[in-house]
Amino acid sequence: TFDASDAACTDSIKVFTRVRPPLERERRSYLPYADAVLIHPDARTLSLSENVSGTSLNGAASVENGLVYPTHQFTYDRVFGPDSQQAEVYEHAARGAVLSTLQGFNATVIAYGQTGTGKTYTMEGDRVGPGRGIIPRAIDEVFAFIENDAAPRSKYLVRAAFLQIYNEVISDLLKPAQRELVIREDPRRGKYVHGLSEWVVRSPAEVYQLMEVGAAARMTGATKLNERSSRSHAVFILIVEQSRAPGAAGGADDEMDQFRGLTPGMGRKAGAAAAGARERQSVSVGKLNLVDLAGSERVHITGATGRRLEESKRINSSLSALGNVIAALTDARGARAHVPYRDSKLTRLLEDSLGGNCKTTILAMISPALDAFPESLSTAKFAQRAK
Ligand code: ADP
Ligand code: MG
Repeated sequence: TFDASDAACTDSIKVFTRVRPPLERERRSYLPYADAVLIHPDARTLSLSENVSGTSLNGAASVENGLVYPTHQFTYDRVFGPDSQQAEVYEHAARGAVLSTLQGFNATVIAYGQTGTGKTYTMEGDRVGPGRGIIPRAIDEVFAFIENDAAPRSKYLVRAAFLQIYNEVISDLLKPAQRELVIREDPRRGKYVHGLSEWVVRSPAEVYQLMEVGAAARMTGATKLNERSSRSHAVFILIVEQSRAPGAAGGADDEMDQFRGLTPGMGRKAGAAAAGARERQSVSVGKLNLVDLAGSERVHITGATGRRLEESKRINSSLSALGNVIAALTDARGARAHVPYRDSKLTRLLEDSLGGNCKTTILAMISPALDAFPESLSTAKFAQRAK
């Protein structure tokens, strides 16, 4: 059931952190393995310390062998711990955004963090079973909503697009021939990527297929972190167009033939009374952006040179542009401050889908391991700035 308060975007930017379980390689990298992260029982407060075993819940620094270890404490809308389930993360961090899209709003869910912290696991996850991530769950929710919509004469058209931003160049992950796409603005369509393919989808299975195609096309490169590292931002876009023709009969259906999507309630309502005067059909369009950002790790860690160094600089500058936009939106509550959307492709792309009436979720991903401490601290600070 839909809760109307979910669509009323009062506090529109929500910030969550998710701490994944330690990986096998982290458990083996030093002995005894130690965490750098403490999650408080309130499930909102996160403490980071290089001596977490000596850290108390009040955030005071700890002392061990004469060394002082500061405790860095942060508060978010929620902190998901290593035991958190995909369903729980979806429920708290993404469902409201999906439901608001179905009400005709734009919404954005962004996964931020160092490579290997769980961005792709959280956004995509498994295709089936409890490990399914936010994108497949969002898709299922959208189609379930459409199937169950009892509103007479509602028609839906669902389209999907999948793009990547690599070195500030936008390319189409579903039509790889489409490269170096540009963002345009149109009074009717608003902000859009010129030439980006949009695929009409009629079932979750069709969307999953597109996800596979896009994931295979996504550019990855090896780094010193010794695993495939995502060097590009990936943006999965679902557009839900709903047309309602209250009381319309006959002729109005011709106009609605353009909506080749699902037509829930058709069978039930077919042949219902012709309601006389023809009312205007209303069309609402909601756009859901699901963003899997490039790894936020700093250049020195990956030991990048040449092309890799250039790559990392672009990533760093587009991530800081995103941070600046979100901070400006957060500061601007009420007042109308300057929001620097133009500083990166990503922020220009998301301009009509961040803040304001748009549900925005930042999911900051963190490794629990001590050797990830500096990156975890930087991620925790990034997320804090969005509050
Ligand atoms: P990223 O996309 O941020 O680089 P991944 O999503 O690829 O990171 O995750 C890195 C590894 O950690 C993968 O093997 C993934 O399955 C695992 N992983 C991430 N988050 C979790 C989690 N919450 N529970 C279990 N395994 C996880
Ligand atoms: Mg990834």
